Amino acid sequence: MVNMRVLVTGGSGLVGKAIQEFVEYQPSDEETWIFLSSKDADLLDANATKKIFDEHQPTHVIHLAAMVGGLFRNLKYNADFLRNNLLINDNVLKCSKEAGVVKVVSCLSTCIFPDKTTYPIDETMVHNGPPHPSNKGYSYAKRMLDVMNQCYHDQYGLRYTSVIPTNVFGPHDNFSIEDGHVLPGLIHKAYLAKRDAVSLTVWGSGSPRRQFIYSRDLAKLIVWVLKNYSDIDPIILSVDESAEVSIKEAAEMVVKAAGFTGPVEYDTSKADGQYKKTASNAKLRKLLPDFVFTPMQQAVDETVKWFADNYDVARK
Ligand code: NAP
Ligand code: GDP
Repeated sequence: MVNMRVLVTGGSGLVGKAIQEFVEYQPSDEETWIFLSSKDADLLDANATKKIFDEHQPTHVIHLAAMVGGLFRNLKYNADFLRNNLLINDNVLKCSKEAGVVKVVSCLSTCIFPDKTTYPIDETMVHNGPPHPSNKGYSYAKRMLDVMNQCYHDQYGLRYTSVIPTNVFGPHDNFSIEDGHVLPGLIHKAYLAKRDAVSLTVWGSGSPRRQFIYSRDLAKLIVWVLKNYSDIDPIILSVDESAEVSIKEAAEMVVKAAGFTGPVEYDTSKADGQYKKTASNAKLRKLLPDFVFTPMQQAVDETVKWFADNYDVARK
């Protein structure tokens, strides 16, 4: 593949920063990477989106930009999640087509799968029933990305695709306690609990189960998808089913990494959300059998250290 110009939307976020770190570690004369934040272009705005595509003339797009948040932000803003993500996705795919972009890799999520389902979930099941009500806006907007990919292929012959990561965490995450995902939220709470010598409160019962993927592993896999995966249908990017942990186990890893020795409490008045969304990575494993995921405790240790080292500048 020669002279790829890769435009990464959402390049300032958790996943975008990890991809930037990965590609900058192994620079190539045949690749130019452009990482966008919302300051470069508000992708809700069709004209601003067109302008940034005209400016950069990408041949490839990794589309990460989205309104993103954990369970509690989704519960509050379902309508915004739906509308903002539909608009961003429509603008990015339309401009990609008009700019002659040969490949777009967009990001779905395992939380968009049907709520009532059999396990493990796989790529064929995205549209098989309503999502969990807590994040229906986000889920339907993300599902439409897959529908758009299919339609753009049918009508224009374009090979735009999507990846389906499980819960992601790592450096540069959104560590907001109210709005962020569980691991960055717990990392922030453990930092404060240790600093202020108070108890750490985990929300919900701690029994829901999640597969967590380290952003640095996900970055390698998304770049691999961009260069090597040619289906229109999505591909799940997940650790093995055996690596699924409960929220309680995840909290214990954070406690260990932070060196927090105070009491840990569970606030069961807070929602648990989906009990589990166990995903199969069989498709990935068939194509990339030898990929080694970072052990979760190591990834949590690195993220806790990153947060402490960058406390003043981290998103929170
Ligand atoms: P993130 O850290 O919250 O970053 C979001 C990115 O989107 C930022 O770069 C942000 O720019 C950009 N953005 C948001 N609204 C925008 C707008 N109107 N115009 C332009 N840019 C905008 O998110 P992330 O966790 O990296 O997520 C990346 C992708 O992975 C998303 O598509 C998400 O749905 C998907 N995903 C995430 C997870 C997870 O657990 N985090 C799991 C599965 C899938 P600013 O920095 O300028 O605000
Ligand atoms: P989800 O995986 O899409 O449901 O979203 P989250 O990353 O927000 O994870 C939500 C799960 O973690 C629920 O079971 C919550 O009850 C639990 N949880 C425990 N403590 C926290 C916390 O501090 N923040 C968040 N967001 N969730 C928490």
